[in-house]
Amino acid sequence: MAEIKFYNREPVPVEMHKVKIVQKLSLLPARERLNKLREAGFNTFMLHNGDIFMDMLTDSGVNAMSDNMQSAMLRADDAYAGSETFYRMNEKLTGIFGMKYLLPTHQGRACEHIIAQHFVKPGSCVIMNYHFTTSKAHVTRLGGRVEELVKDEGLVVKSNLPFKGNIDLDKVKACIEKEGAENIAYMRLEAGTNLIGGQPISYENMKEATDIAKQHGIVTVLDASLLQDNLYFIKTREAGMQDKSIREITRMIADLFDIVYFSARKFGFGRGGGIMVRDEEMFHAMEDYITMFEGFLTYGGMSVKEMEALIIGFEETMDMDIISQGPQFINHCVTELDKLGVPMVTPGGGLGAHIDARQVVDHIPAEQYPAGSLVAALYLCGGIRGMERGTLSEERNPDGTEHIASVEMVRLAFPRRVFTLSQTEYVIDRVKWLYDHRHLIGGLKFVHEPKTLRFFTGKLEAVSDWPEKLVEAYIADFGEDQ
Ligand SMILES: *Cc1c(COP(=O)(O)O)cnc(C)c1O
Repeated sequence: MAEIKFYNREPVPVEMHKVKIVQKLSLLPARERLNKLREAGFNTFMLHNGDIFMDMLTDSGVNAMSDNMQSAMLRADDAYAGSETFYRMNEKLTGIFGMKYLLPTHQGRACEHIIAQHFVKPGSCVIMNYHFTTSKAHVTRLGGRVEELVKDEGLVVKSNLPFKGNIDLDKVKACIEKEGAENIAYMRLEAGTNLIGGQPISYENMKEATDIAKQHGIVTVLDASLLQDNLYFIKTREAGMQDKSIREITRMIADLFDIVYFSARKFGFGRGGGIMVRDEEMFHAMEDYITMFEGFLTYGGMSVKEMEALIIGFEETMDMDIISQGPQFINHCVTELDKLGVPMVTPGGGLGAHIDARQVVDHIPAEQYPAGSLVAALYLCGGIRGMERGTLSEERNPDGTEHIASVEMVRLAFPRRVFTLSQTEYVIDRVKWLYDHRHLIGGLKFVHEPKTLRFFTGKLEAVSDWPEKLVEAYIADFGEDQ
């Protein structure tokens, strides 16, 4: 079932689970939040979780486990080598995806490290529909280059296109022509394309793109970290897919690729990762990296308890009731904010609701990080922690100038099965307040800027006293204690 119907009111998403264990939240008063934000260098990654009311930073490693996942942990088989837990996980994954081999890793970027290490040489090119921060960093670290060939309309903020993550097939052909197939390390398609708003790719597009790659002997790789949302969108939005089960669609997708990898911090509601490979030679070639960087071949850096939970989590991912929840809550949040006039990325995707910061704070220059400023302001206004996805998340050009991101967004992630509808309504209310007071938000500048992945640990400061003024306006409307 995709959605609960209502008799006498506008429908809202309904949680298809009940709460069994809770964690108390606290809401710091606004002035205290300002102190915490200053200590964190205006970087939401550097905040302490105890100082946050709604943690919408990411969906990574913070999805709620089910009772069945937790109880499975008890039967985990502890062994350095040959754990029965691993063989169970191997059987579950190879069963779902129909791929022969599984290499376990500690998380998604470890898969990217190993795949890049195996295929990328200095000067080689990797074709992607769109980059993800870590997938790109691993390619460029080795002297490779990423070509992002998402269709132009994928970058249009307000849209009603069902599959904004689709890759442009003409651009793919032109790129292969220009680079030469032998210089293309692999084609990586990302399900639920993260950085453009969790936007899905259609099955048809994956099929056509991988067909082109195969004609040229190019290895095809699926980043399945956000596949769960993409599966929901294929089933509900793609012509001809309504009668297929999630399991069938998953298998059809996997059949298109040579390699499927995932972060189990998202896919499977747990923590960990894995690379699935079809070809025996390729599997053996990558095996060495697992033992060198991750752990032995039957755990790859994961705890056996997490692996047992994942076995159940992968099965839950095949359940339409379960995987509908995230996209439905996100859709509610996006639709309501859109109605209130807040510029949102539409249609709602998976993973989170995305605010178009470039439009909200169009008075902040790109070099002062509009999305970074907006996300800092949102923490001040309600204790909501989002994530900057824009210029701050980019690396500088080789000449030291800013690489201005093609999209400048604030992401409000919806960790799966975590927040209720009333909490979602609170977020909608505070975002609207901030939108109506957007003229009070100012820019940021770096005071400590790491060379790689600077958004994680960089420290910034406000270019003026705008944070103080914003907090005073907030207190005037909501009082001292919130
Ligand atoms: C999160 C993510 C990764 C990286 O996974 P980690 O487990 O955080 O290392 C890779 N690709 C996509 C699409 C992701 O969302």
